[in-house]
Amino acid sequence: MLSLMDVRKQYPGGVVALDGVSLDVSPGELVAIVGPSGSGKSTMLHLAGTLDRPTSGHVRVAGHDVSRLADRRLAGLRARTIGFVFQQFHLAAGVSALDNVADGLLYLGVPLRQRRERARAALERVGLEHRLTHRPHELSGGERQRVAIARAVVGSPPLLLADEPTGNLDSAAGAGVLQLLRDLHAAGTTVLVITHDRELAAGLPRQVVMRDGRIIADTNSTDIPSETMPAAGGPHGGQHE
Ligand code: ADP
Repeated sequence: MLSLMDVRKQYPGGVVALDGVSLDVSPGELVAIVGPSGSGKSTMLHLAGTLDRPTSGHVRVAGHDVSRLADRRLAGLRARTIGFVFQQFHLAAGVSALDNVADGLLYLGVPLRQRRERARAALERVGLEHRLTHRPHELSGGERQRVAIARAVVGSPPLLLADEPTGNLDSAAGAGVLQLLRDLHAAGTTVLVITHDRELAAGLPRQVVMRDGRIIADTNSTDIPSETMPAAGGPHGGQHE
C-alpha cells in the first residue's frame, strides 16, 4: 500500500527532517508512528500522503512512484487513495457537519445530492447522525474530530493518515477517536497514526519509532529473519513480501 525507500527530506534552511527512512506498509495494516517532537513523524506522514516530495529516495503509494507523477495526476491519486486527519481538525467554520463531510467528495466529481447522501452515511458511521446541521463551533472537540474522520473516509480511500488525531482531546474523546480508527482498520482501511501517547501506541498492532529523522525501531515481524519466526498462526504467518 505504501513504501518509502531510503527517503531523505531536507527543508530549505538546511534542516534534515528525514535521513534515510525506509518503511513498507501492507494493505490493511494499522501502524502507530511514535517518537519525540521534531523526530520527523509529520514530515514522513506528509511524504506518505504525497503532500510533499522527498529530496531523495522514493515514495510509492498504491503502486505509483510519486516522483514520476505530475502534480495533476498526483492530486488525482491523493483524492482517490488517501484520507487525512489532523490534530487541528481543519473543518470549515460556519459550515454544517454534513457539508463539511460532503466537501470531502468535491475532488472526486460527485454531484451535490450524492455528496450529501454519502456524507450522511459517513456521519452515521462515526456516530454523529444527530449532529448533521451543527456547525463546528457547536460541537465538542471529540465530535469535531469525528466529523473530520467522516470527511476523510467519505470517499472510501484505502489509506488513512492521521497526525496526532487525539492530541487536542481529553482521554475519553481520544479513546473514542482511536476506536473509530480501529473500526476502519477492521473494515479493511490501511491506517497510519502519529501519536505521542506511548500507551495508546502500545495497544496497536505495529509501532514504528522515530528519532532524529530515522526509524530506530519497528515491531513489524517481517523485519525478523524468517527462520526465527513462529512456525505458523502468527498475524503475519504465511505472508511473503
Ligand atoms: P515531528 O512530527 O516528529 O514533531 P517534524 O516532521 O514536524 O517532526 O519535524 C522534523 C524536523 O524538521 C524538525 O526539526 C522541524 O523543525 C523541521 N521542519 C518541519 N517542517 C519544516 C519546514 N516546513 N521547514 C523547515 N523545517 C521544518
